[in-house]
Amino acid sequence: MPKRTRQKEAILRVLKSTTSHPTADWIYSDVRKEIPNISLGTVYRNLKLLWQSGEISEMDFSGTFSRFDGNPDNHYHFRCERCGRVFDVDEPVNKETDDRVAQKTGFKIFYHRLEFRGLCRECQESREVRTK
Ligand code: ZN
Ligand code: MN
Repeated sequence: MPKRTRQKEAILRVLKSTTSHPTADWIYSDVRKEIPNISLGTVYRNLKLLWQSGEISEMDFSGTFSRFDGNPDNHYHFRCERCGRVFDVDEPVNKETDDRVAQKTGFKIFYHRLEFRGLCRECQESREVRTK
């Protein structure tokens, strides 16, 4: 099925080319520039396949608002509470937390997610402008 492979590759390329952690809708509109007849359902299906094979990660499981990440390795994020943008945070993942929680709870821990919340630099600046 060469067509399906081409679609999957285009989706992966779009996702790897951005650091914006886009939604499926955003990916869909970008992939359509290359494959105009692709459907949103195909985008969703391929995103799921790419996630299942460990090539990408899904940030949160909130349906249509879920954001995708071309980087499948565990890393931390910052989400701006004003503009909603998501940034990568260059901070080592603390694996000792997993061990400690596993010991405390008896759960088998695969990994943990960490998301910082606040205002991005741009939003801090525009807030200052607004309050003048
Ligand atoms: Zn912001
Ligand atoms: Mn990320």
